[in-house]
Amino acid sequence: MYHLPDLPYEYGALAPAISEDIMRLHHLKHHQGYVDKLNSALEPFPELQTRELTDLLTRLHELPEQVQTAVQDQGGGHYNHSLFWRCMSPDGGGTPSGALGQALAARWGSFEAFKEAFTAEAVGLFGSGWVWLTRDLEILALPNQETPLALDKGEPLMGIDIWEHAYYLDYHNRRDEYIQHWWDVVNWPHIQAAYEAR
Ligand code: MN
Repeated sequence: MYHLPDLPYEYGALAPAISEDIMRLHHLKHHQGYVDKLNSALEPFPELQTRELTDLLTRLHELPEQVQTAVQDQGGGHYNHSLFWRCMSPDGGGTPSGALGQALAARWGSFEAFKEAFTAEAVGLFGSGWVWLTRDLEILALPNQETPLALDKGEPLMGIDIWEHAYYLDYHNRRDEYIQHWWDVVNWPHIQAAYEAR
């Protein structure tokens, strides 16, 4: 059985970047929905229920055919949102330092240039999806609940949810404003630690 993880902060803690109303709906309804649907899809396969989610996602095409779509969509949704909550903090914002700060500047020219490129992908993504920064410092825009992990494109370090449920209540159609405010809550110390972990 998979479970909804607690948020590492209060529902209202990311306001005004993301309101308490959005955080409650997003965590308690949307994320819970992915967890519930993943569990029900895996019900006929007890041996899969005890596997790590990252293991299911990286071996997606070795799974029984009838659960592959559910693992990609619902399992991806569970994985992506679990990562998303941890990538944000009420004390967030600013710029990364340490090895990640140096690597981003080396790869993209400067942190500002990286931020611009990432923002452009997020603003331009068609439909619902996510924009990711992978361990290889690639920026990837992926549709729906696909993860870089499942596509063999490496481990995601951070991602932004570009589904309308992530911002519409606060920002309506102004996705660019959501993205600009999201940078104010990015939890760089957490992302730096993930980058340095291996
Ligand atoms: Mn979402």
